Amino acid sequence: MLKIDLKGKTAFIAGIGDDQGFGWAIAKALAEAGATILIGTWTPLMKIFTTSLAQGRFDESRKLSDGSLMEIAKIYPLDATFDTPADIPQEILENKRYKDAGGYTVSEVVESVAKDFGKIDILIHSLANGPEVAKPLLETSRNGYMAAVNASAYSLISLIKHFGPHMNEKGAVLALTYIAGEKVIPGYGGGMSSAKAALDSDTQVLAFEAGQKWNIRVNTISAGPLASRAAKAIGFIEKMIHYAENNAPLKKDLEAIEIGNTAAFLCSPLASAITGSIIYVDNGMHTMGCSLDSPSFKQE
Ligand code: NAD
Repeated sequence: MLKIDLKGKTAFIAGIGDDQGFGWAIAKALAEAGATILIGTWTPLMKIFTTSLAQGRFDESRKLSDGSLMEIAKIYPLDATFDTPADIPQEILENKRYKDAGGYTVSEVVESVAKDFGKIDILIHSLANGPEVAKPLLETSRNGYMAAVNASAYSLISLIKHFGPHMNEKGAVLALTYIAGEKVIPGYGGGMSSAKAALDSDTQVLAFEAGQKWNIRVNTISAGPLASRAAKAIGFIEKMIHYAENNAPLKKDLEAIEIGNTAAFLCSPLASAITGSIIYVDNGMHTMGCSLDSPSFKQE
């Protein structure tokens, strides 16, 4: 029987702050396949995430198919907008949600993971942030735009650059993108569309460079809409879900675990020749060139 088998593999998933997003679903799918799970949680969410986990608030969604709870070997605080401690501005150092945390820059997290677990096999980038996401591009400030690209696109380069030497050969990297980097999705503003376009392009260049340098693969899943914490912050996610339900080729809900299962495949040896690709997991929404529920189609 053909099986996704990740036993003996270690996965680091950057960008889990609760049990609602794609990162969590990907962690679950990788755990189902036998991988050891390490998590990078955005520093300001570290306390609430670890407390909720310890209090059993995620136990229901932590359940794997055999009834056991997904094991998380270690959770690291991470702010993927900083490479080294020298990059952290004073106001962040003094911020109450950062003050007591340490070692959360990308280089420090990678060092800690290497010290604790040795080399990893799978790196997941499931994070994005655009402080001005609710603003149209024309109203986005330079700082807002740069912040979106820094947190949502450069963070992938930084994670691969630092983890690369600490990944086993034939390892796999996976990021998450959104169709708004290719087509206009009004409301996905603040430079987030630009950040996703950069991420899409970087997937190809990084696949080439990291493939040649470390023999690892780099792919990206373009996911359909999901009402995660990040997506709710954008404000129009329910409309996008409704739109996809009415217009996608497949008339069914899109579940986070479908993205998780595709991620497990892409990070497994079964996908050994796939790199530099954007794989759409969106009920086929990206193939549509017109919207079926447009009033134009209702005219005689
Ligand atoms: P999510 O809220 O579960 O995940 C985003 C995570 O990024 C959060 O945990 C947040 O704390 C973390 N984060 C933000 N800034 C960070 C930083 N500087 N350092 C480290 N972590 C940081 O939401 P999600 O929707 O599952 O998002 C995961 C990925 O999927 C993102 O790249 C997102 O753009 C992408 N995506 C989402 C949708 C959707 O509809 N939800 C669709 C397509 C793609």
